[in-house]
Amino acid sequence: MNCDENHILFIPGIRLSDYLTSFKVVGGLTEPIDNIEEAASDSDCSSEDLIKTVANVKYDPLPEYFISMETWIQKTNLKCLYCTAEILGMPWPLVTGMEPPKSHIDRPEHKKGIMAYKVRGLCCSPPCMINYIDQFADLHIRDKANVKRMCAQTVSILCGQTYKSIPSGENRMRLDCFIGSSGMTVADLSAANKKIWKQYIETIKCFQ
Ligand SMILES: [Zn+2]
Repeated sequence: MNCDENHILFIPGIRLSDYLTSFKVVGGLTEPIDNIEEAASDSDCSSEDLIKTVANVKYDPLPEYFISMETWIQKTNLKCLYCTAEILGMPWPLVTGMEPPKSHIDRPEHKKGIMAYKVRGLCCSPPCMINYIDQFADLHIRDKANVKRMCAQTVSILCGQTYKSIPSGENRMRLDCFIGSSGMTVADLSAANKKIWKQYIETIKCFQ
């Protein structure tokens, strides 16, 4: 049996099939599988058969606004808008505009007339944000320089340190899913961009 499977946490009372929709591909035809545990132990599942699993992940909602460091989320299961890596730790908000937070109409920050940054997506590192802005034709990003400036502002708020700009990172065209085995994995690219950011903030510190 050829059964590629992601890491799975076995929790009492939780079945694999609660999280996965499975298909058995036989002779080019796809058949849904009701019970993946039974199918996996099925002796008829020969090496020519392939069980594919599609994760039914429930993703967190994307925060509508970035308002302050105190109110910003510390984790998410949404993926990086640029490199698609899992975001380990605090996500960085890619913001595209400013407006009074309409959805917070009954909250104190709205009553105080506070402007909020409109969140377009989340990134694993600030360099991924800059790469996204530079490389993607996103209708929400008309003025790239202005969006980069706003992103530098939110990064500065989150870091408690003023950064006028953010360096760009490794290009996702280096990913192995595009160029094969000579490329980087998504996790490697994410780590490389985090390292670029870390080195950048260390360099800024040296000049202060
Ligand atoms: Zn990323």
